[in-house]
Amino acid sequence: MIKKRVLKEFRERLMERRDQLLEQLENLEEELAYLDQSRPPEFSEGAQEETAANSLLALNEQERNELADILSALEKMDQDSYGKCERCSKSIGELRLRALPMVRYCISCQKKTEKSAP
Ligand SMILES: [Zn+2]
Repeated sequence: MIKKRVLKEFRERLMERRDQLLEQLENLEEELAYLDQSRPPEFSEGAQEETAANSLLALNEQERNELADILSALEKMDQDSYGKCERCSKSIGELRLRALPMVRYCISCQKKTEKSAP
């Protein structure tokens, strides 16, 4: 069981990171919208901008995934199920949570999901 005090600390870290991500995502969307507008429709010179847009999109997706993990961790805190592996429901361990407060799986399940991923 994770101590209330530690839980509170994690919650604060998660909320801080969540706010940071929301702000970054907002900026990313603006940049993407700008690239979209400024791209000349009939010239292939847009290739460089295309690359920029693609890397922005990749970053966007990465941050969205992290945000989803954070929101789910915060939700689990509210439901008192925080700190349990979503696959085997064993407790994840405070040290691992301290490094990655939004983590969903214990180390062994994490390895399994990474292996089965394409
Ligand atoms: Zn597990």
